[in-house]
Amino acid sequence: MKIELKMADDSVREGTAASGATSVLVLGACPECKGTPFYVGGIKGTRSHTHDQHLADAGCLACGKGVGKLVVTVDTIFGIDADEEMLSRSRCRVY
Ligand SMILES: [Zn+2]
Repeated sequence: MKIELKMADDSVREGTAASGATSVLVLGACPECKGTPFYVGGIKGTRSHTHDQHLADAGCLACGKGVGKLVVTVDTIFGIDADEEMLSRSRCRVY
């Protein structure tokens, strides 16, 4: 799994999060409040996904301002939709 924060100026910063965490620690300081450590979280209602990426607008946990977009790339062969269907419906597939 790879976590990145795409900033408003198109720069990209690496993020880290523990398993099950609700926030991401991003390298550097918040561009809005200059706070460190720089923790961000996804803004409710902005989540979407592609074949292998979860996307959400990101806000700084310290100042609450939008700071870019969180992009979490996961390891998947069949895609996020197929993985979620498999896990939620417990249907096994043999390929
Ligand atoms: Zn901030």
